[in-house]
Amino acid sequence: MDRRDFVKTAGGSVILAVSGTYAFRILTECSAAWTKIDSQPSGRKWGMVIDITKCPPDCTACIDACRYENNVSHHEDERWDVNWIRKVSIEGHVGKKKTEKSVILVCNHCENPPCAQVCPVQATYKRHDGIVIVDHHRCIGCRYCMIACPYNARFFNFKDSEEWPNKNRPKRSHGVAESCHLCAHRLDLGKKPACVEACAMAGNNAIYVGDLNDRESDVSQLLLSHAAKRLKEDLGTSPKVHYIGL
Ligand code: SF4
Ligand code: SF4
Repeated sequence: MDRRDFVKTAGGSVILAVSGTYAFRILTECSAAWTKIDSQPSGRKWGMVIDITKCPPDCTACIDACRYENNVSHHEDERWDVNWIRKVSIEGHVGKKKTEKSVILVCNHCENPPCAQVCPVQATYKRHDGIVIVDHHRCIGCRYCMIACPYNARFFNFKDSEEWPNKNRPKRSHGVAESCHLCAHRLDLGKKPACVEACAMAGNNAIYVGDLNDRESDVSQLLLSHAAKRLKEDLGTSPKVHYIGL
């Protein structure tokens, strides 16, 4: 082989090696992208719609059902009480007329959840389906999430739960900060959350949970046909609880 042939052969090999590496990178990057998409189970995004016009102020069916389902004790002392779902009264005015609305509050399962961003041990995280959840084994009780949550949706268990009505679910243990987890354990089995079921059984049908990515779901249809608001939207948290009649 003369010098010219050697340079030609060596140059070709370098070009092949470089283009091969480049092709390999493209292929691996594409497959990584697909892996990411494939690893998201269904593309579902759970959200809640609350129609406050259908919620009688004195009805506590949703609150009682949540406590029972999730073993959240009621200590009858506001220093210790944990309220994954609660009702507050909001006063306003329409012209000169004073108005009062009873509003159900839960965790908003924010798309950009500040509680998860500040958690130093990743005990709080957002699932692929949008549910914001706390791993209660991992939580160290620092309560940064409670400070970060702009909705006061997080509560600290100062005590273990006193009762254990639902033996299928864990007792709540002290030293952990928790909030509504949208009854993820029920949704994963194709059941409705406890508060939704209790509200329907009470004849109110004020609370709906469904897939915001599915145009045919109850929640999407309600949002298409009603004007709805979300709480503190300007903060950029992108809450997934929508209110009708607020
Ligand atoms: S409402 Fe609060 S606890 Fe719930 S996801 Fe948003 S920041 Fe976190
Ligand atoms: S969805 Fe489940 S955890 Fe959340 S408020 Fe309703 S009953 Fe409680």
